[in-house]
Amino acid sequence: MTGGPGGALGPPHVYAIPLTTRFRGITVREGLVIPGAAGWGEFCPFPEYDDGTAAPWLAGAVEAATLGWPAPLRDRVPVNVTVPVVGPERAHDLVAGSGCRTAKVKVADHPASLPEDLARLEAVRDALGPDGAVRIDVNGAWDVDHAAAVLPALDKAAGGLEYVEQPCPTVDDLAALRRRTSVPIAADEAIRRAPDPVAAVRSVTRRQAADVVVVKCAPLGGVRAALRVAEAAELPCVVSSALETSVGLAAQLALAGALPSLDHACGLGTVRLLTGDLVPAQASLVPADGFLPVPRTPPAPDAGLLDWWAQPEPDRVRWWVERLRRVARLLARPTTGI
Ligand SMILES: [Mg+2]
Repeated sequence: MTGGPGGALGPPHVYAIPLTTRFRGITVREGLVIPGAAGWGEFCPFPEYDDGTAAPWLAGAVEAATLGWPAPLRDRVPVNVTVPVVGPERAHDLVAGSGCRTAKVKVADHPASLPEDLARLEAVRDALGPDGAVRIDVNGAWDVDHAAAVLPALDKAAGGLEYVEQPCPTVDDLAALRRRTSVPIAADEAIRRAPDPVAAVRSVTRRQAADVVVVKCAPLGGVRAALRVAEAAELPCVVSSALETSVGLAAQLALAGALPSLDHACGLGTVRLLTGDLVPAQASLVPADGFLPVPRTPPAPDAGLLDWWAQPEPDRVRWWVERLRRVARLLARPTTGI
């Protein structure tokens, strides 16, 4: 892309891939992939994010395309199956067909969701058997009192929760809730949405606000930046995806592969939530027996698949390319400095 970030990137390809089921309020995943000297990066901040929020996502894409990643410490990582807001039968099928030993279940989709959440969790535990791990993600939807009130029932329905991810919005909330529940707590948005994620994660640790920290390389600015957050955490880390194609997911796997220790399954089994992928089928990062391989280099998209999944709306293509240019200007630093 002429005049792109560092001037070192090729032309972006804007994609639009429908999801198999509504997730995070969207039904079609949009983003772009962009080539550089080291491989391909993916830039797919959610449409409602402002340019400042999107900037670390571009830093991560530029890192993949121009620098590549640190050498991994492991060849594969265990992953969880992600269960969106679906009925119990579908949840059961998803888990039973996944081969994963850990399930991450979305709950708290709407204020009256508790009965549905309990039924979904019972189905997930049934599919997983007694040995698997079940975690839930609340995306900060509860206040402390509500969380303390509903967690015992959710814990029981799940046959014991591995942890609850971001039950309440703030670090203050998490610290308060952690003193009122026996369910372990994972911090996600409280870290990656903070202006200074390293400071935020230090605060989480110092205040004993969580037992686990979720790191994602796209919103944290790439693999190296996310490793710095993980290092500051002094807590077990879990790597979780941002619903990317296999191009962006590879960066998340590079992060999981480079973490000094990895005690929990990662939230990276998400490519099946998309109806298609940009890389050839044999390179698609679909878990096998609950594991994904750690790639050494960013995988290249397939030319035919880039065409097939190309964003069909010219207005949306323009929107993404203009967004890329604005965010690249915002980053305003040489790619070699990232
Ligand atoms: Mg989360």
